[in-house]
Amino acid sequence: MSYSYQYRHSVRSLKDLEGRLALTDPEKKYFAQKSGLPFLVTPYYLDLIDPSDPTDPIRKMVVPSIEETTEHPEELVDPLGEENLSPVPGVVHRYPDRVLFLLTAFCSTYCRYCTRSRMVGNFENYSFPKKQWEQGLEYIRNTPVIRDVLLSGGDPLTLPNKDLAWLLKELDNIEHVRIKRLGTKVPVVLPQRVDQELCQILSNHKPYWISIHLSHPREYTPVFQEKIQMLLDAGVQLQSQTVLLKGVNDDPETLKELFYGMVELGIKPYYLLHCDLVKGSRHLRIPLARSMDLYEQLSGYLSGYAIPKLVVDLPNGKGKVPIAPFQKIERNTKGHFLLTNYHGEQIPYYDGFEGV
Ligand code: SF4
Repeated sequence: MSYSYQYRHSVRSLKDLEGRLALTDPEKKYFAQKSGLPFLVTPYYLDLIDPSDPTDPIRKMVVPSIEETTEHPEELVDPLGEENLSPVPGVVHRYPDRVLFLLTAFCSTYCRYCTRSRMVGNFENYSFPKKQWEQGLEYIRNTPVIRDVLLSGGDPLTLPNKDLAWLLKELDNIEHVRIKRLGTKVPVVLPQRVDQELCQILSNHKPYWISIHLSHPREYTPVFQEKIQMLLDAGVQLQSQTVLLKGVNDDPETLKELFYGMVELGIKPYYLLHCDLVKGSRHLRIPLARSMDLYEQLSGYLSGYAIPKLVVDLPNGKGKVPIAPFQKIERNTKGHFLLTNYHGEQIPYYDGFEGV
């Protein structure tokens, strides 16, 4: 089915959903109140849910629960402090040589743990007109230190092809922009959107990197695989980002299958993100110590190609910190170290440079 069919038949209300899933009380209660992140999911992604299983992992990611309306003290409306790092509307300049360029508040499916839940689907308070894009481009043009531009939102692949093509051409014309990237969940929730025209546009603006938001091996459907191959054939470099989520992917076997699946498909596992402190997300988050334990259970048991970086994105714009739990290194005397391997064994290591 075409992607316009998927848009037209998007599931966006309690009534739409009730015909497809037997809702639990916490889910029904969410719809009975009026605040929070809107509900929206493509029919394609909804079909991946087992309707008889209230604990289905895909369901947890997209079907809201009343638990979202409980705020915990550690949680923040803007968990990464992006609003304070915005020199012009729509641009987040956190690291010296890179910017996030936010282009839309729309996604074809809203994730219940979204870091930008303050913004996505909130069209009253967040708009991204072309005039604002031009202002963002002007900022990038006038800031020669920027080498890397990551298009995001919302989901930039929900934009019309002609707008994407225009924007990529503008970025190509800025000499100091060396890397263009785009973060998206569209190939996962709306793979029908990836067509020859889009692939041609991306191919015309190489080198181009796409970071795909992947969460569970059940997302590797035949149509997803076909579209990934189309992107690869167009010369697009693919990498992943995965958020660790309770009841979705917080077990080593699911993660191993997820990361090996990526490598088989030609997607480099890149980030495994400890979930941000998003307002109303505690029921989906796991403790940092558990994220570290899970990572320990992967490292050493997966090929290096299949291992992403485990990172915490610190609150208030303090940046990403890679976490490498078991790599405890002790320096004894000069040249002598004690390294801990993936079995937890402490192994003496001598590098021969005693004078250093
Ligand atoms: S696709 Fe990305 S931006 Fe959109 S709701 Fe999900 S996490 Fe947020």
